[in-house]
Amino acid sequence: MQSLTNHYHQLLGLPSNWTVETVKLSITGKQVEIRLIYAGNHVECPVCGQTGKRYDHSGEQRWRHLDTMQFETILVARLPRCECKEHGVKTAQAPWAARHSRFTLLFESFAIELLQHCANIKAAADLLRLSWQAVNQIMRRAVARGLSRRNTEAMAYLGIDEKSFKAGHQYVTTLNDLEQGCVLEVLEHRTGEAAKALLESLNQQQKQQVKAVAADMWQPFASAVRELLPQADLVHDRFHISKYLNEAVDAVRRKESRMLDQAGDRRLVGSKYVWLRNPEQMREQQRLELNKLLAGEFKTGQAWALKNLFRVFWQLGCADAASTFFEYWSRRVDEVGLTPMIKVKEMLRRHLVNILTYFRHRITNAVSEGLNSKIQIVKASARGFRQFESYRNRILFYCGKLNMALEA
Ligand SMILES: [Zn+2]
Repeated sequence: MQSLTNHYHQLLGLPSNWTVETVKLSITGKQVEIRLIYAGNHVECPVCGQTGKRYDHSGEQRWRHLDTMQFETILVARLPRCECKEHGVKTAQAPWAARHSRFTLLFESFAIELLQHCANIKAAADLLRLSWQAVNQIMRRAVARGLSRRNTEAMAYLGIDEKSFKAGHQYVTTLNDLEQGCVLEVLEHRTGEAAKALLESLNQQQKQQVKAVAADMWQPFASAVRELLPQADLVHDRFHISKYLNEAVDAVRRKESRMLDQAGDRRLVGSKYVWLRNPEQMREQQRLELNKLLAGEFKTGQAWALKNLFRVFWQLGCADAASTFFEYWSRRVDEVGLTPMIKVKEMLRRHLVNILTYFRHRITNAVSEGLNSKIQIVKASARGFRQFESYRNRILFYCGKLNMALEA
């Protein structure tokens, strides 16, 4: 047994004033319990770091450690209390764990590492044999640590975006750093107040350094930017715009398909995604499918052509050329005369000034679209987030690019 206690003393990298008292092995419980004892007469005050006399020991505590040969390993100890001249009696910090953590530094670091690289939170939790609650606790602490370390360097390009939450019935608003490609903060609801509060989370200096913000054409977002970042350009980004165009194409298709269906023609039924696909990413089969539909000379095909024609807009070299193109495109839309397309065109015209800002900054929420795939990981494991707080923590854990490392 002596060698086992020595072994654990070395394995845990304990300071000399801590000793391993016993190592209790439960074969049936598949558990190793390591009891540690503080032998020193002096204790460091956790507040000021000065060494004071040992006063007594606090109550017994337990910490989950990394498994030993697949045996769950638990450290048990009573932390010494220090009598500090300045701060009175204080419980010392355990050298193997972060304050208020039920896990050792090594275990917690391993859990964070695993969660970060696992595309499935449930699988990581199972592998660690941790409850949902424990996983949430580790993530919450990791995010808080990361946010406190976040450098407050200038952020020139921001994005305001929304994500669905609670199986799509509710929304959260996110503030993204478009250069770093990360989520800075998440707030509940999709409102002007949420957008304002997000921008308020920046300090005065940061606010002044923002050059442009990419956001949807939604008025409350625009107002928040104008009010709080008056010097910044608003850029209505292409990803939101292409979403509106796609919705318009689909509105045309639904109406047309319904009318054809009444006459027994079912060619447009189930064709929704054929019209929405990006032509560059189509496989041969999908291209044939589209060509067949285009040959049918449907109104939907005309709407589809207008949507695709608009892609040229983003490829132009400057705002003047884009503005000229927009007039040409608008005329085409009017000639074709499909109401859903005309509606989008009018909306774009109303916001054209803040769409043309794209050519000055060339920012889009594309970065946050990339973040969406990570947010899918978060959502896939959600099973209905009851609490906004845990959803926020998970978004920041996976998409915040935070330094969440534990310091030994
Ligand atoms: Zn002190």
